[in-house]
Amino acid sequence: MKTKLLYHTNSFTYECTAKVVAVDGDDIALDATVFYPGGGGQMADRGTITWPNQDYPASVIALHKRDNIVWHALDCPPPPLGTEVVGTIDWDFRYQMMRTHTALHLLCGIIWKEFGVQVTGGQMYPDRARMDFAMENLDRERITVIEDKVNEAIGADYPIHVYTLPREKAFAIPDLVRTKVNLLPPEIEEIRIVEIVGLDLQADGGTHVNHTREVGGIRITKTENKGRINKRLEIALDPLT
Ligand SMILES: [Zn+2]
Repeated sequence: MKTKLLYHTNSFTYECTAKVVAVDGDDIALDATVFYPGGGGQMADRGTITWPNQDYPASVIALHKRDNIVWHALDCPPPPLGTEVVGTIDWDFRYQMMRTHTALHLLCGIIWKEFGVQVTGGQMYPDRARMDFAMENLDRERITVIEDKVNEAIGADYPIHVYTLPREKAFAIPDLVRTKVNLLPPEIEEIRIVEIVGLDLQADGGTHVNHTREVGGIRITKTENKGRINKRLEIALDPLT
């Protein structure tokens, strides 16, 4: 049993029909889903699931991915096994996550290019995101350089390509090795790649926009020392006009 992860192939799909393939309490597993279950710093989607003869649409209050199955926790008793349902995500929330996620990849691509330092962690929120870097020196001058270069890259409107590569091929790409792709569990044979063409390449399971211009623009709102060689940057996205 396996859930088809529609968000992996097209992050712009916000709705799909699917069949209930397992039920556990108020949780249902579907044969296909548009709901991103969370992970890699990207928050899980929100949304609703509808089926015939329902009083009101069921809200998805939590998501869990276990093995190859995505479980949707509902706020009401679930439909019976085999029911055909329609899953719809909160698109405004998701699109915000996609813009923010791409912004973070721009940030680590630029910081790698400029200073040759790696990411140590990150987290996205609807209106902001933070990312930690193995960096010793982060002064005002560097912050300005980073912010300017990220905004330049947004304006340059690089395309973003998402594809999968066999493990051996992915491991042969130097740009991917820096993101510690070799730490992925050995049972993963196909590596999903998110490429900001000409700028950044990462093994990634998240959802992204198609062009960097969609990010709009960013500001670095906060920096913090998280240890001698660990610096935290917080960014906020400019509102879309
Ligand atoms: Zn990512």
